[in-house]
Amino acid sequence: MKYIPVIGLEIHAEMLTKSKVFCSCANEFGGDRNDRVCPRCSGMPGTLPVVNHEAVTLAAKAGIALGCTVNNYSAFDRKNYFYPDLPKAYQITQFEFPICTNGLVHILNRDIRINRIHIEEDAGKLVHDDYEGISMADYNRCGVPLIEIVTEPDFRTVEEVQTFVEEIALRLKYAEVCDAKLEQGSLRVDVNISIMPYDSNEFGTRAEIKNLNSIKAIGRAIDYEIERQSELLDKGQKVVQETRRFNDNHGNTKALRSKEEAHDYRYFPEPDIPPVFISDEEIEDIKKSMPEMPQVRYKRYTEEYKLPEDDAKLIITDKAFSDFYDSAVSLYPQYKEISNIMLGEVNRNLNDTGKTIKDISFSPEDITKIIKMTDEGKISKNAAKTIVKIMFETGDSPEKIAEDNNLIMKDNSDELEAIAQRVLSENESTVNAYKNGNEKLFGFFMGQIMSAAGKGANPKLIKDILTKKLNNN
Ligand code: ADP
Ligand code: ZN
Ligand code: MG
Repeated sequence: MKYIPVIGLEIHAEMLTKSKVFCSCANEFGGDRNDRVCPRCSGMPGTLPVVNHEAVTLAAKAGIALGCTVNNYSAFDRKNYFYPDLPKAYQITQFEFPICTNGLVHILNRDIRINRIHIEEDAGKLVHDDYEGISMADYNRCGVPLIEIVTEPDFRTVEEVQTFVEEIALRLKYAEVCDAKLEQGSLRVDVNISIMPYDSNEFGTRAEIKNLNSIKAIGRAIDYEIERQSELLDKGQKVVQETRRFNDNHGNTKALRSKEEAHDYRYFPEPDIPPVFISDEEIEDIKKSMPEMPQVRYKRYTEEYKLPEDDAKLIITDKAFSDFYDSAVSLYPQYKEISNIMLGEVNRNLNDTGKTIKDISFSPEDITKIIKMTDEGKISKNAAKTIVKIMFETGDSPEKIAEDNNLIMKDNSDELEAIAQRVLSENESTVNAYKNGNEKLFGFFMGQIMSAAGKGANPKLIKDILTKKLNNN
């Protein structure tokens, strides 16, 4: 490729407040059309907006989660434009004084700078399918609290953008700011992209692509735009600054509106809402109320617990799963063993039963009990798997399941000792070969004794007995 892509993101996230941002209507999904509207969010003249404190707190949490400064002072502005889904004909947003600024998110050996995070209200929705030839306005979404996260143009590859969006989604979920579902529109990503020649350090003209509702669509849209813009520059033509829509069926982007016809929003300070002040103490309290973030856990898992990167990555993808893991290792610090059983058997059963870790009836302690029984040689590794499966079905304790299903290995040292002695006497020449250095034959003896001892024999015990005998004889 002759060109370097330059990409910046604008991400809207719906915040998980109980009520809307400037009125007391419920902030929920679904239900009948226009059944969650009041004079305030449907734009009646003369009504007064009141800022939802919870929305301010959640926006601050988002900022903290993305390494931003939470500003002590922020203020609201009106962004004026007419569209039928916006009954007031202006959107209340933060223009000059956003709540958070100057963040930093590290991904794939790259630092992505966050320019700002501001609070704004969502618009309603136009519904085109209810009546033939008629569009209807549904105002349920009017006044749903959003944050907009604006990055600097710091991305150079599709992979960086996709990794970043996944990282943001994860952090917002951990902080309980947003459920971050791209497909359902609770997280919405707009991609700004330009290209520049390799030997240049001046950014090109950008296009903004809207309507990206999956990680995959983000990748396809960027790839398409790189192609399209490269062809234009190759032909000596110019990229026009415009907004484009990605079409998932065709895998292409089409112009929506260009800069020339772009809106002049005529921002001005919102006169009905006083500025928002947050003290340093409040910011500290908000910080303290937040859980340990996924990237911090990842570091702890890989550096302190020495887990493989893949294990750590998988454990942090679900906060409840990671919490469960943390409780288990705090009781019995066998980091890798517990990771193995959780990412293996526990995950397999979660998938098979369609459950999440929150639905299960056993505790982190039960998992540690299984690992302990294995470590002490009371049960085999296979039995450990069986116990997990039965725990999913019955919710019984690991001890009871092991007893009920004859999974406890017999501690019959005397009997095993006799069997071992017999096997060794019957195979004198093999014993000599072993003693002359053919150590692989150890496995042969193990096999002979195991099959003579039958099911339930404890391999660890047999190994100990055999080692003693071969070394002492
Ligand atoms: P505006 O004020 O016109 O909205 P901004 O400077 O706020 O422009 O940038 C909007 C978004 O576009 C940001 O995500 C930013 O990173 C990105 N961006 C800015 N310039 C470029 C460029 N030349 N190429 C790609 N993305 C860009
Ligand atoms: Zn309302
Ligand atoms: Mg902008």
